[in-house]
Amino acid sequence: MDNNRMGFKRYTQLPMPYKFDALEPHISKEIMEPHYSMNHKAYVDNANKFIERYEKVVAGEVKDYDIQGILRAITFNVNGHKLHARFWNNMAGEGKGGGKPGGKVGDLITSHYGSFDRFKQIFTEAANSMLGAGWTALCYDKETGNPQIMTIENHFMNKVAGAPVLALIDEWEHAFNMQYKTKRADYVAAWWNVVNWDDAEKVLEMVQG
Ligand code: MN
Repeated sequence: MDNNRMGFKRYTQLPMPYKFDALEPHISKEIMEPHYSMNHKAYVDNANKFIERYEKVVAGEVKDYDIQGILRAITFNVNGHKLHARFWNNMAGEGKGGGKPGGKVGDLITSHYGSFDRFKQIFTEAANSMLGAGWTALCYDKETGNPQIMTIENHFMNKVAGAPVLALIDEWEHAFNMQYKTKRADYVAAWWNVVNWDDAEKVLEMVQG
């Protein structure tokens, strides 16, 4: 094989942007700690494991492999990693989270939904009716300028390609079960108190350039 070939880089789990108890009482430390240290870490570790496997395939070191299986595992784990990394930054405690967005995100939402409360109602409907494990996300489609709510099934990006996520909620059971048991709607309601609209604003500004 070509020795000058560049290797595939590994993924890194960055430190949490706040303490595990920062989102209390809305999301407890008992959830945040394993969610970051076990669940998110597992996605990073598994993404790297499958990248390593993929690299061996590329290098011709493995003869017997399932390319679709490897690619699916990479997509699942890399998205699991990226979505969690976005999720941590997209929440804030200590009075910095929640409320209504101002700035461009605020304008974007009110100009398309009429009011923030109407947007909140539709997003909540989407989040509460999601089947199985996944995420509900507010995405921005640069082509139309539409702030589109989307359901990301599992970790697979069942969303419009190239539409970045402005805000998102993890609806996997590991994200709420310890605190909210089967009452996912209560968790969704609590999430509105910690969603970080300043972070959404940063992403929108970056996308709009
Ligand atoms: Mn999760």
